[in-house]
Amino acid sequence: MWITYSVLVVVLVRASIFTAVHALDFCQSPQLECHTDDEAASNSRPSQRTDKFRWNANISNLAHLNQFIVSCKTLLETFPIDEIDGNFVRTVKRCIFSRSSPTPLKGPLRLAAVSKDVIEGILDLHMDVTHANDFLHLASGGKLLAGSVPLAHRYGGHQFGYWAGQLGDGRAHLLGRYSNRKGETWELQLKGSGKTPYSRSGDGRAVIRSSVREFLCSEAMHFLGVPTSRAASLIVSEEPVMRDQFYNGNVKKERGAVVLRLAKSWFRIGSLEILTQSGEIDLLRKLLNFMIEEHFSSISSEDPEKYLVFFSTVVNETACLIAQWMSVGFAHGVCNTDNFSLLSITIDYGPFGFMESYNPNFIPNTSDDEGRYRIGAQADVGLFNLQKLQEALRPVFTHTQQKQAKMIINGYANVYQKRIHQIFQSKLGLLGEEEEDSYLVAFLLKMMEDTQSDFTMTFRQLSEVSAKQLHNENFTELWALSDLSSHKHFSEWLHVYLLRLTRQMNDSDLDRQHRMKNVNPRYVLRNWMAESAIRKAEVNDFSEVELLHHILSFPFVTQETAEEAGYAARPPQWAPRLKVSCSS
Ligand code: AMP
Ligand code: MG
Repeated sequence: MWITYSVLVVVLVRASIFTAVHALDFCQSPQLECHTDDEAASNSRPSQRTDKFRWNANISNLAHLNQFIVSCKTLLETFPIDEIDGNFVRTVKRCIFSRSSPTPLKGPLRLAAVSKDVIEGILDLHMDVTHANDFLHLASGGKLLAGSVPLAHRYGGHQFGYWAGQLGDGRAHLLGRYSNRKGETWELQLKGSGKTPYSRSGDGRAVIRSSVREFLCSEAMHFLGVPTSRAASLIVSEEPVMRDQFYNGNVKKERGAVVLRLAKSWFRIGSLEILTQSGEIDLLRKLLNFMIEEHFSSISSEDPEKYLVFFSTVVNETACLIAQWMSVGFAHGVCNTDNFSLLSITIDYGPFGFMESYNPNFIPNTSDDEGRYRIGAQADVGLFNLQKLQEALRPVFTHTQQKQAKMIINGYANVYQKRIHQIFQSKLGLLGEEEEDSYLVAFLLKMMEDTQSDFTMTFRQLSEVSAKQLHNENFTELWALSDLSSHKHFSEWLHVYLLRLTRQMNDSDLDRQHRMKNVNPRYVLRNWMAESAIRKAEVNDFSEVELLHHILSFPFVTQETAEEAGYAARPPQWAPRLKVSCSS
């Protein structure tokens, strides 16, 4: 029975989530050393981390904002800049950036949220600076940081499968780069800071709800250990911004907000695509050389295969990133090539969502009618985007390299499958490798789908129960496991799972629980949690944004305030009715 059912399950799951990307010819041994934000995803107690950072802050952080200097020198010296100035919309050619000044937000400004981890740990600043009036202006585009020459980046992209032409930073300004005391260089960017040459028909603004979501989610993803851009602060204003949130003709007045966000690089697949599409091949080489030199230290600039190695790295890392998204039930929502980073980090948070009930067809973006970017399609869409990257790189590849690039692409499915297999093995606390492991995972996911069990809490509760409790099927307090156990094959699965665990040499039940609790979060940014915080933020109560920000900084640690707020409880009945659209 087990075998028959396993085969069935694998076939079913293949059709949905696991091997949505079909097993293709495998060309090379996949390099599976993906980068993760492991340091962030720790199970340490909240207070310990805070103290550590406070101590660091006291000894060496910059005390004043005027000591904080960014630089645009490298970018300005490396790349040609748009010869035309001014924030009017136009087609831009033969450059990577346009000079563009942010437009200050109107009305009194408020600091709605700030990330101590970013301010102190990345920007070397003391948290006190965020209380200064100057900070409000510097972090929202009203004043410029020392050394800043604000730039808007020219990029293009494939949106929903089709080439969309020039897109670019339509409401974002790159302020400059900052090299911190750890020797890392970060690019500071404002989002929502006004029109640029790339604003097309947009107003250059971002509203409070989408800015709260970006701030909270990018920080939450970092602490989940998923590579991502970071957010330093969120400033809200009184500037009216008109939005038709659900594209149903109901235009409402909202308010403008600006997120100060950071990434080691904001270049995307679309940054390269636009150059190839416009025949600007010298510039394509220049951008690739810059990326390789600055961000791919293991690739020699003298290596004749450097572009191919770059491509192979992006393919591997993107596969790993998507596997990590899947491991926490994250659906990006708009996986266009302009939203896919060349550093394979999560960028451009829009209508994303964390899946609640397990469902490979979960679509976070209500504007995505066909479900192109449903959670179970993300691996396939990743492949599509990487094929677009391959096309963009074609002019710099030799004939032989083009063939090799094809083989690399053919290896993507394998890299993804290996990574996702490893991740789900560890989510179940499995050590070593046994033949039936993938059936065990697939069987569980199928039962979760049938019983609509909560993705996050099923894995978390499996991490928290003892083997004895599991054996007795005693799930009184465990709502997700209780849902799962209603499946007619649950006992069978459990039997196989417990047997598998008992075969693990040198493992104890406590060790298994400990391992599992480190990879299965108790708290993720569910839509209803974000929505509740947004409703308050819109009337200038930022307490819930702060609470969520704090709790999601320790997603693997059970916290009293989170429990009181119901963040690990069954979602409220209104949660499934919530909608998130592209409007932001
Ligand atoms: P997104 O879907 O947020 O990745 O945005 C796609 C493109 O539209 C990017 O080029 C954005 O800069 C641009 N865009 C989105 N919203 C606005 C806006 N309100 N004003 C100007 N440009 C925008
Ligand atoms: Mg975008």
